[in-house]
Amino acid sequence: MIDSRDLNALAPAARKRAEAFFAACAADPELRTQGITVIATSTYRDFDAQNAIYARGRTAPGKVVTNARAGDSWHNWRCAFDVLPLRCGKPVWGTTGADRAVWQRLGEIGEVCGLEWAGRWTTFREMAHFQYTGGLTLADFKAGKTMMA
Ligand SMILES: [Zn+2]
Repeated sequence: MIDSRDLNALAPAARKRAEAFFAACAADPELRTQGITVIATSTYRDFDAQNAIYARGRTAPGKVVTNARAGDSWHNWRCAFDVLPLRCGKPVWGTTGADRAVWQRLGEIGEVCGLEWAGRWTTFREMAHFQYTGGLTLADFKAGKTMMA
């Protein structure tokens, strides 16, 4: 079971953009003045790991955290990563006020780096999630297509 936090586990086209995102966050004046650093909490997840997460709140203890089964998450196709901002080393979990502004800034930086930010999604909005899919769909990946680098 693989549940990676390593950017090297991403597809090259997604990894390039992820690396640009983290570099841009580290250099961003607005984030720097607040003592914000950003870490990756999840990159590539294999099917077994996805099924284990899907089971949470269903057949396993805990709360439901995803609606994606194996193959239905962009993490399974090395296209997506999740981030966590730290303010002076402490996780920023909030979604209002100054915390909300940090997430918004991360989203804007991600988009400048050519990533899609799930913070803009109207269904299953996820502030922590960024992805690059190269214009392909989940069905494309399931059919064996791969992204151009
Ligand atoms: Zn995600």
